[in-house]
Amino acid sequence: MVKFLDIQKITDSFEPRLIEAVQRVVRNGWYLLGEEVAAFEKEYASYIGVKHCIGVANGLDALRLIMKAWLEMGLMKEGDEVIVPANTYIASILAVTDNRLRPVLVEPDMTTYNLDLAKVEEHITPRTRAIMVVHLYGRVCWSEELEQIAARHNLKIIEDNAQAAGAEWVDAGGRPAVSGHMVRKTGSLGDAAGNSFYPGKNLGALGDGGAVTTNDDELARVVRALANYGSTKKYVNDYQGLNSRLDEIQAAVLRVKLPRLDEDNRRRRHIARQYHNLISTPGIILPVATGTESIEEDHGHVYHLFVIRHYERDRLQQHLTENGVQTLIHYPIPPHKQRAYSHWNTMTFPLTEQIHREVLSLPVSQVMEEEEYRRVVEILNNFRSNA
Ligand SMILES: *Cc1c(COP(=O)(O)O)cnc(C)c1O
Repeated sequence: MVKFLDIQKITDSFEPRLIEAVQRVVRNGWYLLGEEVAAFEKEYASYIGVKHCIGVANGLDALRLIMKAWLEMGLMKEGDEVIVPANTYIASILAVTDNRLRPVLVEPDMTTYNLDLAKVEEHITPRTRAIMVVHLYGRVCWSEELEQIAARHNLKIIEDNAQAAGAEWVDAGGRPAVSGHMVRKTGSLGDAAGNSFYPGKNLGALGDGGAVTTNDDELARVVRALANYGSTKKYVNDYQGLNSRLDEIQAAVLRVKLPRLDEDNRRRRHIARQYHNLISTPGIILPVATGTESIEEDHGHVYHLFVIRHYERDRLQQHLTENGVQTLIHYPIPPHKQRAYSHWNTMTFPLTEQIHREVLSLPVSQVMEEEEYRRVVEILNNFRSNA
């Protein structure tokens, strides 16, 4: 059988250093807000190319806390609007509504499945305060025009970087170094970013974890306080905060895994390129590269997921399942059709709905073997469509 994602195998590939890291923390006897978290925050900030990284409990909290901080800072107020992609994992949108802000859903670009940046400006109103881009499936969602629109309308840009750890954006002119980096990584492009270290993400912990990355000193200070009961000094509370912290064990685990992230992403791109070269199933739509380079050279996509589309998606998935290939659907129900957002259920977003009907995620990971992806290709290419 070809597993969709073999997390045990990923963990094993880091041994014995993971066990050693966990043991170090267990024996150290200090489990929260200690030196492992401080060291990881420094290392991740430097990797992403930002001034500040604040470790938090998970990716959803990272996004929530950014907007909660902007509310505290008086940059937004309840009922203000945030432009979000209609086609995303629901957590992006939960972070907005949890803060009593109003998500304004915008349709995707059908070649990238990311927010259609050309449609952003027409959704801006006097209440709009921010644009959230989601680097969905690991593909960077960014443009110079987006930066200009945000500047022109005085809007914040928040990145949901949960799926794209390690992805890079290079503008047409090959913009030079930013804080010592020759390229700009996702997580450093907007005013602030939410990062997730959920075990299945490209940089995964052994449990929940997340981080806010930003170059904004004041935002970093407020997020750090909000994540720790609203306190900057023990037993002195400036805000009505939360308890949302990255713990020492997870930070120690992430410090073992971060140095291999680029290599892991290279392996994912290698598999994506093989899929591209070898898959010839009739009717299948494969993901396209983000730039002019070959998929392998293209750092604008880290293939958190390798998502194909097919008009007979359910039959195709069944065919793969029957032949021992695990696949998943990201995602089966769009946010506006969820019961959680019942007031949106009558709205129609045709492109978003088409994506949800047709997408299928093939197995891809840093530990996938050649014989496994070749098997996936063979089964796929044996599929006979009804049409
Ligand atoms: C995983 C994910 C999140 C949430 O991250 P958690 O760490 O699971 O809370 C948010 N947005 C997107 C796009 C995600 O894939």
